[in-house]
Amino acid sequence: MPRRTQSRGPCAFCFTAMTRNGLAKHLVTCSARHKIIAHADQQPGKARLLFHLQVQDAWSGDFWLHLEADGAAQLLDLDTYLRAIWLECCGHLSQFSIGGWDGEAMPMKRKIADVFPPGVVVTHIYDFGTSSETLIKAVGTRTGRPLSKYPIFLMARNTPPEEVCMECQKRAVVVCLECVYEHEVSGFLCAPHAKDHPHDNYGDPMPLVNSPRVGMCGYDGPAEPPY
Ligand SMILES: [Zn+2]
Ligand SMILES: [Zn+2]
Ligand SMILES: [Zn+2]
Ligand SMILES: [Zn+2]
Repeated sequence: MPRRTQSRGPCAFCFTAMTRNGLAKHLVTCSARHKIIAHADQQPGKARLLFHLQVQDAWSGDFWLHLEADGAAQLLDLDTYLRAIWLECCGHLSQFSIGGWDGEAMPMKRKIADVFPPGVVVTHIYDFGTSSETLIKAVGTRTGRPLSKYPIFLMARNTPPEEVCMECQKRAVVVCLECVYEHEVSGFLCAPHAKDHPHDNYGDPMPLVNSPRVGMCGYDGPAEPPY
């Protein structure tokens, strides 16, 4: 949902909360991050080309991630990651392309390093019916040891949006899709008001999790990173 103020989230290294664009700049200079990188670079193993990827939902931009991806990893690794943290409901098709919906799909075996020259925005589409669109661009690279044994390391993500119950203004935990689609109200409900809520045309209200796919298809989380 569009929000009045920009969403914020903490840096994984120093825990300072910032906006998406603030973090893009901050991560370059974060001294806590540089300490951890310096430590990693003293470990055995080969230096690799690593990509700082800024990821955001195409609709509101309120949901975002800052990832560090191994340049040798494949788009498939990124797809797996996005499905786990944001998207997976019932195994829909997905694709990466340059140039949005009309762009040509890129093979999932393409390497991150071959896909993200500076300035290029890559579109990820999950589910061609009730589609979730994600925009990804590289905001920087470094050469060094990865901070994880996995292909992708989470450097920051937005904190979960705090929605309020439309009945009592307390913190909402679910959203009623019938309210959203048929009654043009927010549909956000606290637990007690969800219990008494009369609508069931779209099934039970959906849990509010930290994902741009809330309220779409059967998505009910958990919206957690895969590793
Ligand atoms: Zn930091
Ligand atoms: Zn689905
Ligand atoms: Zn309530
Ligand atoms: Zn409702």
